[in-house]
Amino acid sequence: MSNKYEKAEDILAHEGDEYEKYYGAVIPPIFQNSLFVTPSEGNGIPEHDYVYTRCTNPTIEAVEKKLAALENGEDALCFSSGMAAISSSMLYFIEKDCHVIAPKSIYGPARTLLKEYFPRKFGVKTTFLSEEEMEKLEEYITDRTKLIYLESPSTAVFSLQDLEHIGKIARKHGIGTVIDNTYATSLYQHPMEYGIDISVHTASKYLSGHSDIVAGALISSKEICQNIRYGERANLGGCIDPHQAWLMLRGMRTMKLRLEQHAKNALAVAEYLQSHPCVGQVFYPGLKQGRQKELIEKYLKGFNGLFSFTIRGTREQAECFLDSLKVFLRGCSWGGFESLAIPFTVGTPKEYNEEIGCPANLIRLHVGIENADTLIADLEQAFHKIQEMN
Ligand SMILES: *Cc1c(COP(=O)(O)O)cnc(C)c1O
Repeated sequence: MSNKYEKAEDILAHEGDEYEKYYGAVIPPIFQNSLFVTPSEGNGIPEHDYVYTRCTNPTIEAVEKKLAALENGEDALCFSSGMAAISSSMLYFIEKDCHVIAPKSIYGPARTLLKEYFPRKFGVKTTFLSEEEMEKLEEYITDRTKLIYLESPSTAVFSLQDLEHIGKIARKHGIGTVIDNTYATSLYQHPMEYGIDISVHTASKYLSGHSDIVAGALISSKEICQNIRYGERANLGGCIDPHQAWLMLRGMRTMKLRLEQHAKNALAVAEYLQSHPCVGQVFYPGLKQGRQKELIEKYLKGFNGLFSFTIRGTREQAECFLDSLKVFLRGCSWGGFESLAIPFTVGTPKEYNEEIGCPANLIRLHVGIENADTLIADLEQAFHKIQEMN
């Protein structure tokens, strides 16, 4: 794919738009059709390659072109959800009775596929590794290992993996690699440049940015995209629909502006939390500190509004804190305009926390694009409530 634009802002604004094709329409039309009838001499329809929207559609292709250019991949595919993109990517590499390696703290439904569903259905075995064990990844590879599934940074304690190192090891052993790149987004991390095969995203978060669609995407080589387009995506049927693709395209045009504001607000909130006596640890890559500082500086070109922290106190105090929030809404998604808070490991059993590699009393915040002082004041009044419990 030859891109017309190089800079992210220009790609987001114009890449993939074909004004000459659509009468100068500044926004591409929604091709809200399932079927493209076949040209013939008799019907006078000009030559085209479209057949059926589950395989290809011009509105969907407009988003895919933008995404591929933004993340410096050769091609991209859009899906009906992030999980459709993730399951199709995993299925592309796994085989019956194979072995998979993944970090402990990956997104819940992705973990369920690798821990329960694929083992039960296809005899797959997955080894889940801690942050430290991931650094010695090669020791865990067997001759049955077909997939290394990554999420970097993860979206619980924002743990990173060394993509370049893992990419090299995987190529040496002929193992497929998939990364959930949702947190960094296509703006701030380009995994294919480090030898990772497929980068997957949920577009339900920052790519669309308004909490109004569920969609997903992957970016990869021409060859892998072509195989998945007519293999996993066409046959399992998880294609995005044209109207969702069009909404995604609209969201992407403001993505850089939104992310910059989310990151600015999140840094202010994270710094406030760090200095608060009721707070234990703050897990925000944007603070550029901790044992993974070098990886953060190497891989992440920017940050966003999602992070987590622990409450220093009892489970009841953590619950009271969450119940007292007024501006931060309670909800498990993220990446929209709104601020959110969820109890990640508040009141969960110790064994579960260990399994997912998270400390107890962990709360995840999504810092939205409201006024930063309003958000800090909301947290402040909730902390006052729990301090009264001491
Ligand atoms: C939300 C999320 C997903 C799943 O995306 P859906 O569009 O809801 O299927 C995958 N990975 C991460 C990191 C997420 O936060």
